[in-house]
Amino acid sequence: MSDTHDIAILGGGPAGLTAGLYAARARMEVVLFEKAMPGGQILITDKIENFPGFPEGVSGPVLAEWMAKQAEHFGLTTVLAEAKAIELKKEPAGYFIVKMEGGSEIKALSIIAATGAGWNRLGIPGEDALIGRGVSYCATCDGPLFRNKEVVVVGGGDTALEDGLFLTKFAKKVTIVHRRDRLRATKILQERAAANPKIELCLDSVALEITGTKKVETIKVKNVKTGDVKDIKCDGVFIFIGITPNSGIFKSIVKTDDKGYIIADDDMKTSCEGIFVCGDVRKKSLRQVVTATGDGATAAVSAQNYVERLKGVEYK
Ligand code: NAP
Repeated sequence: MSDTHDIAILGGGPAGLTAGLYAARARMEVVLFEKAMPGGQILITDKIENFPGFPEGVSGPVLAEWMAKQAEHFGLTTVLAEAKAIELKKEPAGYFIVKMEGGSEIKALSIIAATGAGWNRLGIPGEDALIGRGVSYCATCDGPLFRNKEVVVVGGGDTALEDGLFLTKFAKKVTIVHRRDRLRATKILQERAAANPKIELCLDSVALEITGTKKVETIKVKNVKTGDVKDIKCDGVFIFIGITPNSGIFKSIVKTDDKGYIIADDDMKTSCEGIFVCGDVRKKSLRQVVTATGDGATAAVSAQNYVERLKGVEYK
């Protein structure tokens, strides 16, 4: 590795890995930093059915492994470390310093932000205290612990339905608590949920409190139309109420929207020259594996063009 990388990719989900694949194939001096294991959110997705090329779907962890292997095969270097801060050095040529955990630093001519998003919390009493004792944010990880038990899923989006359906493989009953009178999730998932005898919908309802001494025992919900409050007895509560972008280290240097998603143009260029963005951390209307990989490819090509222009070797 040279002293200054052409491209530093921060984040190793589908967006970052695709950016790495494209940058490596363009023979850029590229390094990808990932704090845990490459793969991002698909590592905890049982099955992905809407990524083209897999007629019967593909396991999330398997797809993640193949994406990482493919990028490495073409020369991507992956380093398991978390970036903590970014600094822009205007002189002599305009490069970035990325400060890593543990105090080390690296230099890069360009940066691709691919840091994804994290799960939201409900923020109700009992939630924090009972994490790991029945409260979970990962059906793939914790679902098998609820064999023949009753669980509640909070949320009405794709994750709530997809993971709620996954939980029926283990639990004897899955109650989906959603705050509106209809679900947000894609129709095919709604059809499957309606056809599954283990799934019960509790609509127009908000979760107020999770109770239990040693482990989850009930969740208190309130019907927003009638005002009625009831306790649902359950052994587990799975919370899938959306995501928050992991954009903290970029916020002082690039423009974000009011939710923290990084704003970029069609070429994935952010408001800071030399910083590009891809995947779930970007402001956009559809967050899927397929849009993350598309973003990653575009971000890598834009970063390549930028770096080659900086070096005066661009192909005009
Ligand atoms: P999401 O689409 O943002 O849905 C979050 C759900 O939680 C919504 O139904 C929302 O209610 C509800 N919610 C939000 N805050 C709440 C609160 N404080 N209390 C109660 N309910 C609350 O999030 P997601 O389902 O995690 O999906 C994230 C992204 O990943 C989406 O773009 C989704 O399409 C994508 N995804 C795709 C797939 C797939 O294609 N197979 C699978 C999983 C996820 P409202 O509806 O009232 O806003």
